[in-house]
Amino acid sequence: MLACTHPFSMVILFAATELAPYAKTGGLADVLASLPSALGSRGHQVRICLPFYRRAIRKLRSLQSMGIELEVVLGRTKHVAHLWRGQTSDSPPLLLIEKDEFFDRSYLYGPPGRDYADNASRFFFFSKAVVQIAQRLSPRPDVLHLHDWHTGLAAVIARRECPQIKTVFTIHNIAYQGKFPAADFELTNLPWEYFTPEGIEFYGQINCLKAGIVFSNRVTTVSPRHAQEIQSPGGGHGLEGVLQAHRQKLVGILNGADYRRWNPATDRKIPASFDAGHLKGKEICKEVLCRELGFPSHTDPLFLFLGRLVEQKGVELLLQATPYLLSWGSQIAVLGTGTPKWEKALEELSRQNPDRLHLQFRFSERLAHRFLAGADFLLMPSAFEPCGLTQMYALRYGTLPIAHATGGLADTIQDAIEPFETGTGFLFSPYELPAFLSACQRALRVYQDPSTLVGLRKRAMGKIFSWDEAALQYEAIYQDP
Ligand code: ADP
Repeated sequence: MLACTHPFSMVILFAATELAPYAKTGGLADVLASLPSALGSRGHQVRICLPFYRRAIRKLRSLQSMGIELEVVLGRTKHVAHLWRGQTSDSPPLLLIEKDEFFDRSYLYGPPGRDYADNASRFFFFSKAVVQIAQRLSPRPDVLHLHDWHTGLAAVIARRECPQIKTVFTIHNIAYQGKFPAADFELTNLPWEYFTPEGIEFYGQINCLKAGIVFSNRVTTVSPRHAQEIQSPGGGHGLEGVLQAHRQKLVGILNGADYRRWNPATDRKIPASFDAGHLKGKEICKEVLCRELGFPSHTDPLFLFLGRLVEQKGVELLLQATPYLLSWGSQIAVLGTGTPKWEKALEELSRQNPDRLHLQFRFSERLAHRFLAGADFLLMPSAFEPCGLTQMYALRYGTLPIAHATGGLADTIQDAIEPFETGTGFLFSPYELPAFLSACQRALRVYQDPSTLVGLRKRAMGKIFSWDEAALQYEAIYQDP
């Protein structure tokens, strides 16, 4: 990270519901673990507001009550919450909102495939508390940087109560919009004039993502290509019209990768280290992984799927492609959690091919590192992908991605085609099985030629997606009047 002090130092308050590795379901957590500290290194005064997830936050280095009480009204009920200060080893200070009734639970948003029934209360509460903190913090923030639908209502309240604080709203995943019935509007304590098509109403419901888009000063999403896609029919998951109307404040900024955590040369979670000049370690990682997973061979190609087992990630294409890949002599490892229906379908396939298809339905940071280090190819057939971090990590570990040419995948992977003298992975389009299989076949042709494989791996490992670069772009947005 750059260690310069910025001449126009700003006070920036982040608000989000995830932070890696403490509370994580996806890429949002990784962004929160990196962007605030990249901005802090540039001389800005940064704080991160998070729910106090008692079970996760126990792991923090230091935790201190701030002696501050927040009074948050939801409808007719007044809730009292306490504010704690926490410190990780490498992030700016955390401001943790303690309300066990809402946040001391087994899951962040709900059990697999379900939402908690009181998510409106939970995240309206969080949004309201965040704005109170912004108003009470000294020095007062110049910028309130909100992330995803959980904080959408904060944009509305900040616009009403402290318009001098600039709000920036980042969309990490447009498919999750925080939609609630009109009856929950009472919990916002806003006048009904906000429940209109110009406000936070969308087809008769409250739409929190829309609230963030409409009421923030600037809106960002996590790759330039995705910023275009979400304005086009279907790409905005219904909100394309809203985004077109607000396009003058929308920009796409590519996420970085955190190479303090994701670097095969220094990674302590993997059995052998390696870099682009010394690839022996990668072979060892593969051998160990194949042994641990019970695969018969460590010379056959090893494909990995790592991610949430949900429609967006292309699980259906994965299921359709699996019998072909196996019949071509490949082995496949899957590490993911998600919808029970996809887990069942994968289990069925695995029963037919027990020694070549390995499944782990759990969330494990350690396994994610070991699987990425040991695999040859990463399968990422996402229907859409705002940015995608897993492919960035895969590139760094010399694990060549095979991905749908969409969003951040298209912005970060250079397609390799015969004679494979350029490129860092394999892109496919249209979003159909034959195109996906044909990209897999290209990958297998590369696998059969070791020197071509090494060339591609080295190019992939040389790709750097820098948080410093992203921080510079966010800084420009924060300063833009
Ligand atoms: P999304 O945010 O849509 O889930 P990203 O690719 O942006 O997708 O980020 C996913 C992050 O979550 C990556 O850091 C990935 O390694 C991690 N991840 C996903 N599933 C698992 C799992 N089962 N175990 C460990 N890490 C996981």
